[in-house]
Amino acid sequence: MSNSIALVTGANTGIGKEIARQLADGGQTVYVGSRDAGRGQQAVAEIGGDTRLLVLDVTDGQSIAAAAEQVGSLDILVNNAGILVDGATPPEAELDSFRRTYETNVFGVIAVTNAFLPALRRSGRPRIVNISSGTGSLAWSAEGRFSMGGGAAYRSSKTALNAVTLFYAQALAGDGFKVNAMAPGLRRTGLNPRAAASDGDPAEAAAGAVRLALLGDDGPTGEFLSWDLTPVPW
Ligand code: NAP
Repeated sequence: MSNSIALVTGANTGIGKEIARQLADGGQTVYVGSRDAGRGQQAVAEIGGDTRLLVLDVTDGQSIAAAAEQVGSLDILVNNAGILVDGATPPEAELDSFRRTYETNVFGVIAVTNAFLPALRRSGRPRIVNISSGTGSLAWSAEGRFSMGGGAAYRSSKTALNAVTLFYAQALAGDGFKVNAMAPGLRRTGLNPRAAASDGDPAEAAAGAVRLALLGDDGPTGEFLSWDLTPVPW
């Protein structure tokens, strides 16, 4: 699929910037979503190609509406913007940490997706990629793969995002949409100190998201996949 129009939220840095870069390198027109105009403009300048700044704070309804007005037609929406506030277990956590995390990682995705659905419906091949996390897998959590109960706000927000992904896929299946969630693996970004200290290449994860963004009509929908497109248990 060439000459598609894509929007990547939170594309001024990290995995989102790499997704925007790879889509642009592949010849797509890319709206670089950024809540800060200056940081977004800098990313646009660094990425080059056919990239455009789209100021977009996924927690701000007015910002979302203003951004959606600027985009007439859209083939690819990558809901990448996300935050990790703290590593608290539920008994330790401030309720506000859950609220802030869900506001961005869950409600933000729903608000942005719904605002851009009219533009996506103008596409002949609409694709939505939600950047989730393996730590949102309840099956992996129950196996004890991650810290026991830690990062509860973030991890449960990604579990909720996975559920929402499945429901969008089911609701939009008759309209040609492919909607999938992707676990990027641990990547060296500014998400939190653990990610920053890792040696995971964000570009490797971005390549998986780009494959999901460019899925053919025989591709999967309603799935939770790792960056290498192997299934992750819910
Ligand atoms: P990052 O470097 O911190 O980038 C996060 C991006 O989201 C930034 O562009 C940030 O913008 C943006 N953002 C945050 N809140 C926003 C809002 N309200 N509106 C618009 N943009 C907002 O982290 P990252 O690792 O690349 O994260 C990208 C995605 O990958 C997230 O969904 C994250 O949960 C997921 N993920 C990452 C890892 C990892 O190891 N890195 C692992 C699993 C999943 P600002 O620059 O303005 O803050």
